[in-house]
Amino acid sequence: MKNVKNHMFVLQGDGFSLILHNKLSDASFFASKGDDGISFCKWSEYDRLPVSDANKLDSDMKKKLRTASLCIHAGYKPKNGEPIELPIIQSTTFKYDDSDEMAQLFDLKKEGYFYTRLQNPTNDAVAAKIAALEGGVGCVLTSSGQAANFYALFNICEAGDHVVTSNEIYGGTFNLFGVTLKKLGIECTFVSPEASEEEIQQAFRPNTKALFGETISNPGCAVLDIEKFARIAHRNGVPLIVDNTFATPINCRPFEWGADIVTHSTTKYMDGLATQVGGAVVDSGNFDWMAHAEKFPGLTTPDESYHGLTYVKAFGKMGYTTKLVAQLMRDLGSIPAPQNAFLLNMGLQTLHLRMQRHCANAQRVAEFLNDDPRVAWVHYCGLPGDRYYANGQKYLPNGSCGVIAFGLKGDRETAIQFMDSLEMINIVTHVADARTCVLHPASHTHRQLSDEQLREAGVAPDLIRLSVGIEDVDDILDDIRQALDKI
Ligand code: PLP
Repeated sequence: MKNVKNHMFVLQGDGFSLILHNKLSDASFFASKGDDGISFCKWSEYDRLPVSDANKLDSDMKKKLRTASLCIHAGYKPKNGEPIELPIIQSTTFKYDDSDEMAQLFDLKKEGYFYTRLQNPTNDAVAAKIAALEGGVGCVLTSSGQAANFYALFNICEAGDHVVTSNEIYGGTFNLFGVTLKKLGIECTFVSPEASEEEIQQAFRPNTKALFGETISNPGCAVLDIEKFARIAHRNGVPLIVDNTFATPINCRPFEWGADIVTHSTTKYMDGLATQVGGAVVDSGNFDWMAHAEKFPGLTTPDESYHGLTYVKAFGKMGYTTKLVAQLMRDLGSIPAPQNAFLLNMGLQTLHLRMQRHCANAQRVAEFLNDDPRVAWVHYCGLPGDRYYANGQKYLPNGSCGVIAFGLKGDRETAIQFMDSLEMINIVTHVADARTCVLHPASHTHRQLSDEQLREAGVAPDLIRLSVGIEDVDDILDDIRQALDKI
């Protein structure tokens, strides 16, 4: 592809078009119109397109920024006299001077946004930043992490299909997969991430369309063997989808270990201050959908609702992302408000600093709990005796996250008494942000699960989830110490 910067691409349909161009960052990171008609990005020409193109910080388009710099700069590069902070384009639609101009937009002769349910400049700039951080080719922001996991799967599954997933996943995702997807005709088999490759293999069926897991599970703190899962997925001709919410791309980039799609609840560390609920779906661009065309007809055969367009043929590595926007966002919605994307971007700009502090604080707290005789057990992969220490060292060598799972000697009541005695640390449903907080999943987030399902999801009835924040670690320890003294 020649020069993608000043081009755009519009998918035309009856009264509908999709502009895949980020006007704010002037980054055509989706597709373009060339001299000889419509042409598509050869994404392999770029290492990290959203980095090199959206930022335009180096002329040869090859040099990559390091992660900390991407947190600050990726996705939005103001031009002369423009605001230094990402503008909030809080508008549902975009105005054109006359009908001819609008017609030109439909005729691919002019560029512009037209409707925020599909594309919005603020959202696109933040999506480009997350794509850059994960090392993906495309990213779509969603209105929640739940929506991200739903769309990541629903983009490639339909009634009659089947999914295999780690059973050590967030309770909401467990419910989404086990109950709601079932209502849509998509079945799900849960496997232990600890099971052997042979055992996991047995869960696969001819109609299996994806394998799913969490880098660090919520709330059990299991560390996924991403390479093992990627091997199994690829042997079966399906993508590996990894929810990277807890690790964040600061501590793990699942694409580097073979994952194909990454999802996020951006509500957590990426935001960091509990200001917005959001999600993201990032595509590595690496999965060869055409090589398994019969499994993924939605991507590899014409979409009649889109004038017979075949996403993977038309968009290559961007086929998955384009379909998610053009089809799922068109039909189901679930975009974040631009105001929320702005707040998320504020969080992303300090993500690298906050993750360091979360990990350093959590390591101290995990060691303290591990040494206290009133504590029955601690799960934190930074502890040398932890069941996931080896996976942690391999996949998370610079730190995992701030979340620790532990149990107290005693019964459910002991856990509740401990939590009720905390002073600075808050009892909240939320997890993974600046304030240290605590939750008892069996009585809160996972209360809809039966005891058997709890065990299947790796949640012990006495499990306390402690999300270590970025306060002074001695204050966190003092609070835990005085609460332990009261049980
Ligand atoms: N994935 C993980 C790992 C989570 O912890 C959560 C929520 O806690 C979700 C997904 C769902 O995200 P949201 O609450 O933003 O819908």
